[in-house]
Amino acid sequence: MLYKSTRSNQSATASAAEVIKQGLAQDGGLFVPESIPTLTHAEILELCGESYPVRAAKILSKFLSDYTYEELLQDCREAYREDSFVGGAAPMVNIHDQLESLELWHGPTAAFKDMALQIMPRLLSRALKKTGEKRTALILVATSGDTGKAALEGYKDVDGIQIMVFYPVDGVSRVQKLQMATQTGSNVNVCAIKGNFDDAQNGVKAIFGDAEMAKKLNDKGYFFSSANSINWGRLAPQIVYYVSAYCDLINAKKCALGDSFNVCVPTGNFGNIFAAYLAKLMGLPIHHLVCASNANNILTDFLRTGTYDRNRDFYLTMSPSMDILISSNLERLLYFVAGSEKTAAYMEQLKATGAYTVEPEVLSEIQKNFSGYFTNEEETRATIRDTFEKHGYLADTHTAVAIHAAEAYVKESGDTRPMVIDSTASPYKFANNVYLAVAGKEATSELEALEELEKATGTTIPYPLAGLAEREIRFTKTVEKEQMAEAVLEYLNA
Ligand SMILES: *Cc1c(COP(=O)(O)O)cnc(C)c1O
Repeated sequence: MLYKSTRSNQSATASAAEVIKQGLAQDGGLFVPESIPTLTHAEILELCGESYPVRAAKILSKFLSDYTYEELLQDCREAYREDSFVGGAAPMVNIHDQLESLELWHGPTAAFKDMALQIMPRLLSRALKKTGEKRTALILVATSGDTGKAALEGYKDVDGIQIMVFYPVDGVSRVQKLQMATQTGSNVNVCAIKGNFDDAQNGVKAIFGDAEMAKKLNDKGYFFSSANSINWGRLAPQIVYYVSAYCDLINAKKCALGDSFNVCVPTGNFGNIFAAYLAKLMGLPIHHLVCASNANNILTDFLRTGTYDRNRDFYLTMSPSMDILISSNLERLLYFVAGSEKTAAYMEQLKATGAYTVEPEVLSEIQKNFSGYFTNEEETRATIRDTFEKHGYLADTHTAVAIHAAEAYVKESGDTRPMVIDSTASPYKFANNVYLAVAGKEATSELEALEELEKATGTTIPYPLAGLAEREIRFTKTVEKEQMAEAVLEYLNA
C-alpha cells in the first residue's frame, strides 16, 4: 500500500513508514492511501472472536503493508494493555434505546487521544528503523492541555524518540498542569511559557522552520518530528474501533452480520469521524454518519450548505477540544469525494479568503453519508443532567454534545438502527462542568470537583486522574515565549 498527497494527481510513491515519519506531504496536502482495502463479512465474523489488540493488528496490517503482522500485533498488544486501558480499550455501554456509548477514554490520560497516541509512537519508532534513520526524533508539541499529556504518555520511554511539550502557563486547567508536571519517563520534558496557546504554537512552528536550529540539532544527532493529528499514524488506528464496535454489536446480538448501524461523533478536527467514513468505504456496514459540533458550528453549516467559512466568531465552550475553526482532516473527505484537483483549489481558496464552496454534486455526495448537528452550551448541560437522571449514564461535555445530536437525528429521521456514539473523554476530565450540570451548583474548586462528582453520582474517578495532587512534581520550568528554542537546546545538552 502506497500513499499520496490529497492535493496531487501524481501516483502514490510513499510507504506507510515514510508518511508516518514525514507527517505532512511536501505540497502541504495530507497523505491518503492510494486505494481502500476491503473488509469482508467473513473477516468481520472472524474478528468478532478476537481481542482488541488482534482486531487492531488485523485492520492496521491492511493499510501499513510495510509493517509485518507480527510487528503490528506486538505493538498493539503493548499499546492496548489491560493495565493501561482499564475496563477495555473501547467498551460499549447502552445509554438508552438504540443509543450506545463507545467509550474511548479508558486509556492513560482519560481522553480518546490515547487510542491513537498509545500506538503511533511505536509505529514511528519502527518507521525510523525501516527508513534507515540513524538520528533521534525530537517531537515538539504545543498544547492547550489534552494533546500534550496524551503525547507525553504515548512517547514516554519509546526507543529513538524524545519529546518536549510547551504549554501556556496560565492557559491550561490546574488538573491539566498537574498531569503534565508529574509526567514520568526518561525521554520527556515539559516547559511552561509566558504567553497564550497561540504563542506556544507559533514558537513551535518557528523552531520547525528554523534552518539554523535544524542544523544544530542535526549536529547533535536529532531531527524534528511532530505528533500532529493530521499524521496518518494517528488516523489509521482510529478506524479500528468502529470495526470493533460492530463486532461487539454482533456479539451482543444487537446486529446480525450484514445489518447496518449509525455513528455519531463529537467532532473538532474531523479526524475521528473521517476514520469512521474510511471504515465504511472498506465495507463496514455504517449507514449514516452524524457530525456533532458545539457552538463553533462551522461543520454543521458546511454539511448543510456546502460553504465552509471560517470568517466568524470563535467561542470558548465547555467542550474545548471541539473549539476549532479549521477542521484539517476535512481535506481528506474532500479528496475522496471530489478528487485532488478540486481539493487543491478549495484549499487555495481557504488560504486566500478563509472560505470555499463545493459544487452541488459534491455536496449531495457528502450528504448521502453525513449530517451535521450542533449543540449549544445550555443544551449540553441539560443533556448531561437528563442523561444521568433518566438513564443513569454520566457523560462528559463532548460526549453530551454528541448524545444531543444523535437524539436529534433519530427524532428527525425515525431511523431505528443501533447508533454508536463516540464518548471521547471521561466525565472526570471535565469534572467542574459535569458536576455543575448534575448537582446544579459549582464545585468547591477544580481539584475538589473530582471527589465531589464521585460523591454526587456514585461513579469512580478513573486511575489516571486519581491522587493527582500527591504525585511527584518533575517539571517546574517557565520561560519567556522568545526563549523556547533555547529551552530545546538546553534540554538536549542535558
Ligand atoms: C480531540 C477531541 C475531539 C475531537 O476529535 P477530532 O478527531 O479532532 O474531530 C473530541 N472530543 C475530545 C474529548 C477530544 O479530545
